[in-house]
Parts: sequence; C-alpha cells; structure tokens
Amino acid sequence: MFCINCFHKNTSVANSRPNKKQPQVWRRRTCSQCQSTFTTYERPSLADNKPIDLSDGSTDTFNLGKLILSISKAFTHSPDGAQYNALWLAQTVEDTLSIERQTITPEDIAATTHQTLKKFDELAAVQYAAQHQLISSTRKRGRPSLREHEPRSRESPSR
Ligand SMILES: [Zn+2]
Repeated sequence: MFCINCFHKNTSVANSRPNKKQPQVWRRRTCSQCQSTFTTYERPSLADNKPIDLSDGSTDTFNLGKLILSISKAFTHSPDGAQYNALWLAQTVEDTLSIERQTITPEDIAATTHQTLKKFDELAAVQYAAQHQLISSTRKRGRPSLREHEPRSRESPSR
C-alpha cells in the first residue's frame, strides 16, 4: 500500500493485531521513505464474497451504503445515534453475515440487522422491525400472509 503522507509506493507492516470477535485485522504501517505511520483495517467484503439470493431466483450484490441508510432510518428517536453508530452497526451486520452464512437472502440481512440493533438500542430495533415488517425472526421467506377478511365482525359503533 502506498504512503498516505508522501505517496511513496513502499510501506511495511510494523504491527498487526487480529480482532478476536470480528473477522478483522488492525495494522500499523510505516513508510520506508518519510517514516510516517498510519493505521489500516482489513475486513472481508461481503459484496465481493457472497451474492444475495432473491426470492425470484435472481441475485443481488450486498450494498453497505444501503444498509447504513436503513439503519439510520431506525434512529428517528435519536439523530445523534444514527450519525455516530449507523456505520459501525452496518459493518457489524456485514461481518456477522460474512462468518455465519454460506448464502444470504434479504430476510437474513433484515434478521441480522434486527438482532444487532436489539443488542445496542431496543427502540431502534423496534422501529427497524416495523419499517421492515418483521413479525418474528423465525418468519419463513415466501410464506403467504394469512390475513383474512373478517365478515362484519367488531365494527365499531359510530354515531
Ligand atoms: Zn511516506
């Protein structure tokens, strides 16, 4: 990797630490020309590793930006919460999906996002569930809704 200070093409890794909980490596790099040091993080890229299987049989590419936006929308009660936390929450979801699943569906992304939010901010999790119509985390994909019309029952007495 080139140096972010002088753009010299040779830098070397001076120190490196794997994260114990996430598939992530922290590195300190040193430039061989200007001797400046800088930090990098290496994480798996879900977009390049696993396609999203859609219910119609086609596939889509994981989009971290889209996930950051949908997490932000769950923080209507706390704009600061969205500003400071949406990125790392989305990256946590991406890392979780990277290590836990062979194939992913939009429902997997929604369920993992919901679980991740639940550990961090209960209200954000509730809002996310409402926005994504998550009834429960065990809801099967493609299941038809069983909503029936109840004929003339419980009509509120007006006037
Ligand atoms: Zn340099």
